[in-house]
Amino acid sequence: MNKINYYKKSLEEIEIIKKLDYKPSILLHSCCGPCSTFPLTFLNEYFNITIYYNNSNIYPESEFNRRLNELKEYINKEFKDIKLIVPKYDNESYNKFLGVFKEMPEGKERCFACYAKRMDEGFKYAAENNFDYYTTVMSISRQKNSQKLNVIGSTLEKKYNKVKYFYSDFKKKDGNLKSNQIAKENDMYRQDYCGCIYSYNSRNKKHKGDLYE
Ligand code: SF4
Repeated sequence: MNKINYYKKSLEEIEIIKKLDYKPSILLHSCCGPCSTFPLTFLNEYFNITIYYNNSNIYPESEFNRRLNELKEYINKEFKDIKLIVPKYDNESYNKFLGVFKEMPEGKERCFACYAKRMDEGFKYAAENNFDYYTTVMSISRQKNSQKLNVIGSTLEKKYNKVKYFYSDFKKKDGNLKSNQIAKENDMYRQDYCGCIYSYNSRNKKHKGDLYE
């Protein structure tokens, strides 16, 4: 299957936005501080951003809070006008949802379902609160499948038809490198596992640490 250049698509959309006589609103899903650095810098010029930190996938709760606090600190320092919304953390329900896919390796169906769940929650909130656009920072990560993320975005755009999906591949044109640099300059905490209990366990196996179970 031919890959679509979602980076190019994001630039085409920016050209449309530049012609508007107002700055559209966007609900931006953020999974953590380091992944949000470059997407925030890039999007802030063209959008009124509200961040949506819906990440009940993250295990344990202390880690959810640690990533959230790092993000808050960065926003307070660099983007004081940006609002941050944090829906209720519910890792128990999230684990029940992910449990169906537990035998699957990272980067496959379990992760695609995980992207889709959080993106659907965000899109729903964006539609209920009249946002013009929705997107996620996740395409900044080399571990995330940008083609899948954008296909999910396209499906959700049809489901919540008043909100546009901002297609993106933030990692392109050194986006990933820039994110790493900003995170380093700000001495940000960077996690060494993706988030869910399965990724937590694999990380611990590698480090021969304690396993949850
Ligand atoms: S590894 Fe990351 S993307 Fe995949 S299911 Fe776990 S938290 Fe979700």
